[in-house]
Amino acid sequence: MTTFTDLGLSPKVLDAVEAAGYTIPTPIQAGAIPHALQRKDVLGIAQTGTGKTASFVLPMLTLLEQGRARARMPRTLILEPTRELAAQVEENFVKYGKNHRLNVALLIGGVSFDDQLRKLERGADVLIATPGRLLDHFERGKLLLSAVDILVIDEADRMLDMGFIPDIERICKLIPFTRQTLFFSATMPPEITKLTEQFLHSPVRIEVAKAATTAKTVEQKLVKSGKKDWEKRAILRDLIRAEADGLKNAIIFCNRKKDVSELFRSLVKHEFDAGALHGDMDQRARTTMLANFKDNKLKILVASDVAARGLDIPDVSHVFNFDVPIHSEDYVHRIGRTGRAGRSGKAFTIVTQADAKYLAAIEKLIGEDITWHDGDLSTLPVSSEPDEAPRRGRGGRDKPAPKRRRNEGRERERPQSEIDIIAAAEKAKEIEVEPLDDQPVIRTADKPNKVAIKAENDQRRARPEQRSEPRRDHRRDRDDMGAAPIGFGDEIPAFMLIDTKI
Ligand code: AMP
Repeated sequence: MTTFTDLGLSPKVLDAVEAAGYTIPTPIQAGAIPHALQRKDVLGIAQTGTGKTASFVLPMLTLLEQGRARARMPRTLILEPTRELAAQVEENFVKYGKNHRLNVALLIGGVSFDDQLRKLERGADVLIATPGRLLDHFERGKLLLSAVDILVIDEADRMLDMGFIPDIERICKLIPFTRQTLFFSATMPPEITKLTEQFLHSPVRIEVAKAATTAKTVEQKLVKSGKKDWEKRAILRDLIRAEADGLKNAIIFCNRKKDVSELFRSLVKHEFDAGALHGDMDQRARTTMLANFKDNKLKILVASDVAARGLDIPDVSHVFNFDVPIHSEDYVHRIGRTGRAGRSGKAFTIVTQADAKYLAAIEKLIGEDITWHDGDLSTLPVSSEPDEAPRRGRGGRDKPAPKRRRNEGRERERPQSEIDIIAAAEKAKEIEVEPLDDQPVIRTADKPNKVAIKAENDQRRARPEQRSEPRRDHRRDRDDMGAAPIGFGDEIPAFMLIDTKI
């Protein structure tokens, strides 16, 4: 059996791997590391959870032992689709690089440019970045990519989902042709194959079987629902309450960011101890939210796939799929959050008539039929309800909607979330508004939902350039569908349309 010592890694790296408690390399590590150390291009087809991060971090550390970085000229570059994944790679450099004195810089959206600039000035041995923020720094003339001799493109198919491919192509062209490229993707759709043909030189291809099976320790159930979101929300609340005894903590997955926000607010309103994690939240809010969930300070986390993908989240007792995932592999990934290390877990998926084809794809992928909790879709009464939850306010749905101005949805979305936060604050009565730095902030008292409200508030007051990673249209999360305020019918008050400067 191959051991880490067989792979050609340096003694410093082997020492750190041993300290981390790993003795046997995973298949992607055993396959990729020797080739990476020989300065060959690598095409790794593997998903998160296979140990793929170490498969590029460990050889990079070994190769970086020779040479030094110069100011603003990073020696290596790792591109990640999300800030959390970028931060996780940085943690890997801290863990495995404990015997090295390397400068690692993280360039992600949602944190100040100045700190990042200082790190670049010092000379980065390793630069870990999301494509949008990297190009922002480059366009400001703060960064030269001409000294990069190892480029890692991680989670390439996620990059594709998120519209980052034009950015990736641009970045690849800014880095010397003679570089070594280590490229990772869980799947190989045609766009990704084209990218590898264009930018990799005779790569060694290492393919690790993707997880198509679900743990036997997870009890999976399907729950039928009408198609409206408010019907699904009511079913979800009933499920959570029914499971209360065994429910230690839960992740609820939605397909779109808009639904994550809406569901989170609804759960808090119904006094569930919930938080949210999606791609439009500012970085501080995302980090705090995740840390609180990991520390059991938060019981329920509502998340989108993009935000939760690849995160090292500890074992959870329950997973709820508020939406059936569109990509069947996401189902395996989502429910893999529970039933870990032999423990038992439960996964409930809310299914509507419209989800039948996605459900069929999931059952085909996992090779089994999932049992129904309480009758299947055929027992669903034909609904005569309107498409949306009943709206308050004047202006019925039969009135024609007013013409939308350009960007109107964006302007209207922000005030709505402010109003929700203020309403939640008034309701809780334990929340005081006080200034922090140069911005107003809502401080919460010791209430179960305080973290959630604080995080939404953080998101609200994020500076425009920090609000979301993607700044151009093509840099949008897959689940970025935008949202219009509800609750006002067609009568949106004029103050709601004013763009606020925070
Ligand atoms: P990744 O696929 O890189 O996200 O890694 C998934 C998890 O596997 C992380 O928690 C790693 O710390 C862990 N891991 C990485 N390499 C090994 C190994 N050789 N043996 C056991 N666990 C590992």
